[in-house]
Amino acid sequence: MKIFTFITLFLYARYVNINRKDKLNKKQEKLLKKQLSFVKENSPFYKNIKGSSLSEFPVINKKTAIDRFDDINTRGLNKEEVYDLAVKSEHTRDFKERIKGISVGLSSGTSGHRGLFVLSDEEIMSWAGYILGKMLPRGRVLFNRIAFFLRADNNLYEGLNNIFVKFVFFDLYKDEKENLKKLNSFSPTILVAPAAVLRALAKAQNQKYINISPIKIISVAEVLTKEDEEYIKKAFGKDIIHQVYQCTEGFLACTCEKGNIHLNEDIVYFEKEYIDSKRFIPILTDLKRKTQPYIRYRQNDILIESDKKCPCGCCFTVVEKIEGREDDIFIFEGKNGKTVKIYPDMIARCIVYVKNIEEYKVLQTSKSTIEVYIDNLEKNIKENIVKEFEILAQKKLFLFPEIVFKKYEREVNTKKYKRIERRFSSEEC
Ligand SMILES: [Zn+2]
Repeated sequence: MKIFTFITLFLYARYVNINRKDKLNKKQEKLLKKQLSFVKENSPFYKNIKGSSLSEFPVINKKTAIDRFDDINTRGLNKEEVYDLAVKSEHTRDFKERIKGISVGLSSGTSGHRGLFVLSDEEIMSWAGYILGKMLPRGRVLFNRIAFFLRADNNLYEGLNNIFVKFVFFDLYKDEKENLKKLNSFSPTILVAPAAVLRALAKAQNQKYINISPIKIISVAEVLTKEDEEYIKKAFGKDIIHQVYQCTEGFLACTCEKGNIHLNEDIVYFEKEYIDSKRFIPILTDLKRKTQPYIRYRQNDILIESDKKCPCGCCFTVVEKIEGREDDIFIFEGKNGKTVKIYPDMIARCIVYVKNIEEYKVLQTSKSTIEVYIDNLEKNIKENIVKEFEILAQKKLFLFPEIVFKKYEREVNTKKYKRIERRFSSEEC
């Protein structure tokens, strides 16, 4: 029956194009009703909820999802047990062992809590069917070779091996040269990796360490900046770098054939907490997951909505950009005494507007200090960056911070790579 689930979801994701909002709303309503009544019956955390509409369920965050893991999951799984197995699997690199027939894994979280995920075989099959249905290149359904660069393997990805694809996992903890050699001989039709790794692979391609020509390139797990996107496109001769916005909380969005990122609103219901006219924090309700339900989960990310109608015909919300973590919004002292928030995207622009910088990272370490890591520390480059920050400070009315320049060095084996990062808590303000 599992293969049936896979094929159904595969065909659905690939060939059903929901092109009208009213159709989508109807579908969502139906799934939502079913999901909410399921969790009320099966998840101890939700059993006392009186009403049946979504607004009567509490909005939860990552901390609650982890703290109340035992109550939320519907299979009586114990957090400590799941966590121990997930850590053990990461250490031994053997991901076969399961609990009560359920696969477990840890997310590559950046701060504090690492997320736990638990999935049944049925859920893995349905996830694999949906994601492959969406992501396999048009015109080439069979015999794809997928190279997958990740920081942790798990059972989840084994669900991907089938008649459609041969899937090879590249362990980022292994030797880089070995990986490049293996990648070159594998010659993938689809290349999947975090943005920073894609960039490194693009560089290897430019320097002729590898010579591969994937049909499709998919960026996962990290924010893909505009300039990295351009660099990767050029190196591999592609018009589109696809993005998959997928995390422990689900398969949330992906790029369509026309190059726009759509929210997967047929499997996840999104409430939008707007922080300005087009930026929002998603509060998501997974419409399908049963083992570990996600109901009104506030996803700590900032998405930028687009009002564009996509020519692909799909009516799902188009996202202009996945901007990054809410935790990475920079916080400065305002000229009027209040604090001023600056989005990661605006910080990135201060660097990329300056020519001759290839690699960078900007860290905010306090309200009045930022550290700029660049690969080119020439005097005029530093001056131009300072100028860009001055313009931003004037526009946004914040007190100009101290800028410390440092030599950029590529971080290897970090959990998640970020170009723009805030390293102090907003509560310290
Ligand atoms: Zn589209």
